[in-house]
Amino acid sequence: MKDGLQLYNTLTRKKEPFEPLNAPHVGMYVCGPTVYSDVHLGNCRTFISFDLIFRYLKYLGYKVRYVRNITDAGHLEGDRDEGDDKFAKRAKLEQLEPMEIVQKYTLGFHEVLAMFNTLPPSIEPTATGHIIEQIGMIQEILENGYAYEIDGNVYFDVEKYSETYNYTILTNRNLEDMLANTRELGGQNEKKGRLDFALWIKAKPETLMRWASPWGEGFPGWHIECSAMSSKYLGREFDIHGGGMDLAATHHTNEIAQSEACNHVQPARYWMHTNMLTVNGVRMSKSAGNGFLPGQLFTGDHDLLRKGYSPMTVKFFMLQAHYRSTLDFSNDALDASEKGFRRLMNAVSLLDKLVPTERTDEQESFNIEEIKANCLKAMNDDFNSPVVIAELFEAVRIINTVYDGKGQLSATELEQLKQLMNDFVFDVFGLKDEDSSNIELNAVLDMVIELRKAAKENKDYATSDKIRIGLQSMGIQLKDSKEGTTWSKS
Ligand code: AMP
Ligand code: ZN
Repeated sequence: MKDGLQLYNTLTRKKEPFEPLNAPHVGMYVCGPTVYSDVHLGNCRTFISFDLIFRYLKYLGYKVRYVRNITDAGHLEGDRDEGDDKFAKRAKLEQLEPMEIVQKYTLGFHEVLAMFNTLPPSIEPTATGHIIEQIGMIQEILENGYAYEIDGNVYFDVEKYSETYNYTILTNRNLEDMLANTRELGGQNEKKGRLDFALWIKAKPETLMRWASPWGEGFPGWHIECSAMSSKYLGREFDIHGGGMDLAATHHTNEIAQSEACNHVQPARYWMHTNMLTVNGVRMSKSAGNGFLPGQLFTGDHDLLRKGYSPMTVKFFMLQAHYRSTLDFSNDALDASEKGFRRLMNAVSLLDKLVPTERTDEQESFNIEEIKANCLKAMNDDFNSPVVIAELFEAVRIINTVYDGKGQLSATELEQLKQLMNDFVFDVFGLKDEDSSNIELNAVLDMVIELRKAAKENKDYATSDKIRIGLQSMGIQLKDSKEGTTWSKS
């Protein structure tokens, strides 16, 4: 298929034409959530970015098999195979069985992603459902000589692997530097090399999630699940492998190593990484304590929030940044996105009210085909959604101009405009019109706030108070600040 799509490949550090192994089929694997707690907004950014990629590939006509796993076992707190098991720790805290934790947070994850109107993946395999495949892969790695067993633990031998393969292919780091920057192994540690990582971990007496294996009872290391599940459902070589940027240095580096040690091939042709959502420049994460839950964002129930924002406002805010740029969270940026999204949806709703007529010579002519070509060009340029949004606002301007009687569209142009909005706003971006009464309420409240501001400027405090108290009695709270007035539902 010649569609001109170029995507940035972390592996080669450049944009490359997209050439699937088996077009029109495309295999895409994305590392899913670790379901021991609620997903935060940063996690959602990564999954919304890959939803955009999935949707656009489908829009281009590819038949995409999108596999996104659920990590429900084998994730220890430390990044070097140490610390408590995240699921067991949470299970104790909530006094639940570990699989109840898994079920609870998997359901929560699905609910949140449905609110963002993301499409479900084609396959959503779990680590616990693929223990046999993981054991099989570890056995092959052992047979090929790239792993060793010590007292019920199996470790990947990075030094041995590096004799034939390049362990830093994804990050382009220097192996010597990596070794120098990696802590010494403690006296208790039985690993041979500092960079070695666990493929299988021996169960302690208190370990709750455990399975029988050729090396005794235990559980798989975190990285092996993705190698086992991606090759099972997409083959040893597939097209796209994705995840957040924070996964490249360890998790994805180790995935490549495992797949090469087992299958002798680098598993994915294109490695794609999304950038982080930050708060005041700091990566949003649970450990930094700045991890908003999507629910808090929707209700406004968080110290850092001036008010609540709807799921589509938040999604629009994310689409206004390119997936490889960092995106910093701020109330002001969300306020701007709320207004922008409302303008976009208002214009879409006006489309049905426009009546086509032939243009008179002196009226502005509109080139809808050019807007569409620009949208495609931007999406083909590594999924550049912010440029598409700028183009869509040109379409919004046209709709408003015609609606105001200052321009005309022919029947063909009107059809093209409807198709354009339908394709990009709904199909590719996956936005949807939220409760229209809410959109109207927003618009009415903005107007009332403007009237109150004018009353205050005229020193008509009786009217401004009447507005504030009147809204309060309806459960709407106004908040004045340097930046202006905002409202929230009390
Ligand atoms: P986890 O559940 O921690 O394994 O994370 C699930 C996905 O969210 C991974 O692909 C992470 O890279 C991604 N992620 C974590 N924090 C952020 C963030 N602040 N911004 C964007 N993506 C993130
Ligand atoms: Zn993974």
